[in-house]
Amino acid sequence: METPRGDAVAELAPLPAGLYCPDCAYDLRGSRSPRCPECGFDLEVVRAGESQIPWVHRGGLGRGRAYARTVWRVTFGIGRLADEMAHRVAYGDAQRFRWVTIGVAYVGLLAMKASCVWGAGGGLDEVTGEMPWLAIPVEIATVLTLAAWTGLPSYFFHPRGAPLARQNRAVALSYYACGPLAWLLPGAIVPALLLLTESPIAAAVAAVLLVVLLLVVWWHGVNTLARLVFRSTGRTVLVAAMMPPLWLVVGALIMVGVPAITLFVVIVFLTWP
Ligand SMILES: [Zn+2]
Repeated sequence: METPRGDAVAELAPLPAGLYCPDCAYDLRGSRSPRCPECGFDLEVVRAGESQIPWVHRGGLGRGRAYARTVWRVTFGIGRLADEMAHRVAYGDAQRFRWVTIGVAYVGLLAMKASCVWGAGGGLDEVTGEMPWLAIPVEIATVLTLAAWTGLPSYFFHPRGAPLARQNRAVALSYYACGPLAWLLPGAIVPALLLLTESPIAAAVAAVLLVVLLLVVWWHGVNTLARLVFRSTGRTVLVAAMMPPLWLVVGALIMVGVPAITLFVVIVFLTWP
């Protein structure tokens, strides 16, 4: 076992229960060492005892800044998010972040759709043709799809055999992983700008490419998180392989199902004797 530096040993208080090494998941209860006794990981982040997720500190940072910083961190440094496995991750905070992200992403999608439709030379009415009211179930289905998609990764973040505290943290962190979707809002400017200089088709292609790119970034983030949290190649491969088909199937079911059921109900209602 590695011997920590002399003075530090006497100064450090024993760590309380419920703390785990962010690197190897070693139970740190009672540890007085500045480093993990199992793998040597520097335990400063654990000893600080505070969450490093900006969103958690939105009271002091301000909501907008805390949200933007969290999105940035999830997009470009998801490894630091995995360090949060060291302490309690507030489930409510993670859920709130997820729902704000669903809202931000939806507004971004709406902006891109609007610019592409108007760029094609028609109002929104022309898209839905004879049934303009059908736009409402389509919008509802979009929000439901975003909600289902951002919830799906959490099903893979229940490592069996791990302490319940670690399972709860992993689930909460999987909600934070959807952060890259927020880029849909500033990204909506790209198709809008293309409309001014190029064809509506170029704008539509750019919009689709942006959505695909963000899904890939999100998928990669979920995989990285799974690898860092579970330290298991099998589970990481499972998450990587299952996420894209699940997103596709669930998205298709909701986007077709909700408008179809609405249409069915309306037809039954109109033809009722
Ligand atoms: Zn360790």
